[in-house]
Order: sequence, then C-alpha cells, then structure tokens
Amino acid sequence: MKRSPSDIRLEKLLRSSKLVAGGFMGDDPRTPEEVIREDAACLERLGKTAAQIAERMRKLTEAASAALGNSVQLEGKFEVRCEEWKGGLICPWPHPGRFPKRLTVCRRLDTGREIVWSDLNIHLIEAHGFFEGKGASYRLEPEDLVQVLFE
Ligand SMILES: [Zn+2]
Repeated sequence: MKRSPSDIRLEKLLRSSKLVAGGFMGDDPRTPEEVIREDAACLERLGKTAAQIAERMRKLTEAASAALGNSVQLEGKFEVRCEEWKGGLICPWPHPGRFPKRLTVCRRLDTGREIVWSDLNIHLIEAHGFFEGKGASYRLEPEDLVQVLFE
C-alpha cells in the first residue's frame, strides 16, 4: 500500500524526540501503520478491543488519581497509584488539547505483575490503536494489558 505524505510525516515525528524523550517508536523497524495493524490483529486474537482496554485504563487512572499520590486497592485485585508532574503531553497525530503528565502504576495483587501507563498512552490506544513501537519507553504489549487488566 502506498504511503501518504502525512503517513511519512507522522512517522518522522513519532521517531523523533520532539514530543517525548526517545520518541514513540523505540527501535522498531516497522512503520507506524504496521505496528498498529499487527497490534490490532493481536487484540482480535485476544478477544478485546482497544476501546475496552482504554476504558479500563481510564477507570483505574481516575480512581488512583483521586487518592492523590497514595496507593489504592481496587476490586480486590489491583494496587494502583498515580504520579503527576506539571505540564502536559500532546498527541503526535496531532489532536488538539494536552494530556496531563501523569503516570499510573497498576500492580496485580495476585501475580505481582505491574504495568505503567501515561494518560497519553490511553489516548493513543483509544483514538489511534497505537501501543507504540517495540523498544519505546512506554510501549505497552496488548497481551500484557489484557492479562493484567482483564484476567
Ligand atoms: Zn490523538
């Protein structure tokens, strides 16, 4: 499939450190379109949608954020806490608006498995089906998300 100039522009931005240190692609040799397509296929195998995952992440972030930096236990299953910084992150696609610089650390009480995400991760998954490239600091594996958030 022929790539549009905007696809190529987007890839350049995603690989740069202009918006986040290290960029969104890590050392992934695939194009962003390929990353998105392959993660979508993985999600389909796992029987979840990006929207379901983003919704779950947002709920946990909101509950943790209300605890103002303290850890909270949720649903008898998770220990979650938020770390917040001043400033915001913007969507590379681009989208208007800024996302709070906030990290959510979510640990399963039974397995000890932990996943960390930013508010921008939630948006990138929900609006773009983008989990970031392999090797990016905030790459999230769809399989890890499904196992930690749903199983
Ligand atoms: Zn966006």
